[in-house]
Amino acid sequence: MATQKFAVGQAVRFSPDRHQEHATKGGLFKIVRLLPEAGNVLQYRVKSETDGYERVVREDQFVRSVKIDMPTIVLKLTRAPSDTSVQQAPQSAGPLLRGTGDTDYLCGNCGFVIASGIGPKQRVAVDITTCSACGAENEFPPELRS
Ligand SMILES: [Zn+2]
Repeated sequence: MATQKFAVGQAVRFSPDRHQEHATKGGLFKIVRLLPEAGNVLQYRVKSETDGYERVVREDQFVRSVKIDMPTIVLKLTRAPSDTSVQQAPQSAGPLLRGTGDTDYLCGNCGFVIASGIGPKQRVAVDITTCSACGAENEFPPELRS
């Protein structure tokens, strides 16, 4: 029995097989369930943060560039971008907030890192923030607010 490298609730990206490409668009997915192995490869049921659909993904499809050692928390969307067809280009400025800890907070719509490296004792001054990549409004969890 191989060891699961990913946990339920974790945010991941994966590189789709050719026949899956149309459905994924490189979006952000959240693991909802661990599945039995298939041919010695672990499988996960993941749910798209973008369209809400669930898919089954093999562990070897997960994109390694996701910092799997760093906890990532997907923020709660309070308002979707008003017009998704006119997405702003991601700003080169990077995350809105940068801390000294190890938790990344991601936009609930597009997965853009809104707050990077937030430590357990750090607080943010705002409740709601607008994603600079897609314009969606995200709410920081209560434990992050002062
Ligand atoms: Zn976004």
